[in-house]
This record gives sequence, C-alpha cells and structure tokens, in this order.
Amino acid sequence: MITIREELCPQNHRCPVISICPVNAITQEGFAAPQVDNDKCICCCKCTARCSVFTPIGCCDKGRDQRMGW
Ligand code: SF4
Ligand code: SF4
Repeated sequence: MITIREELCPQNHRCPVISICPVNAITQEGFAAPQVDNDKCICCCKCTARCSVFTPIGCCDKGRDQRMGW
C-alpha cells in the first residue's frame, strides 16, 4: 500500500503526481495533502518515484521497504 506522509507536504499547491497515476487512485481536496485509494492502487510506484510524500509499505521496492522497517 501507499501511505501519505502529510508532514512532508507543504499543502500549498495542486499535486502534480495525481495525473501520473494510471488508475486514478490519487485525489486531493484543494491544496491539502493528497490521498491514495489503496483499493484502486496497483503499486506501480510512479508516485513514490516522483515525490517522497508517497510512501510505500509492502510494495514497490520490497528490499527498501524492509531496510526501512516497513
Ligand atoms: S504530495 Fe508531493 S507533489 Fe503532491 S502536493 Fe505534496 S509535495 Fe507536492
Ligand atoms: S503506486 Fe501507482 S497506482 Fe498506486 S497510487 Fe501510486 S501511481 Fe497510483
């Protein structure tokens, strides 16, 4: 799944990552931190490559997930 580290997002702009998600799993209300619908997410991890606010847990690079203790 993908979690959002809201504390890393300045929440002052439209999220450019929304448009690169192939399954439209990312939404944003105003300039708030975006949210990921993990029922839709297919763990392609384009979002995590674009912005560190998008944090993978148990998907993407599993080796990195494990090193980070996720
Ligand atoms: S998640 Fe990243 S790219 Fe999206 S609005 Fe926040 S800082 Fe910007
Ligand atoms: S991992 Fe891929 S499918 Fe999931 S939210 Fe990110 S861009 Fe969308």
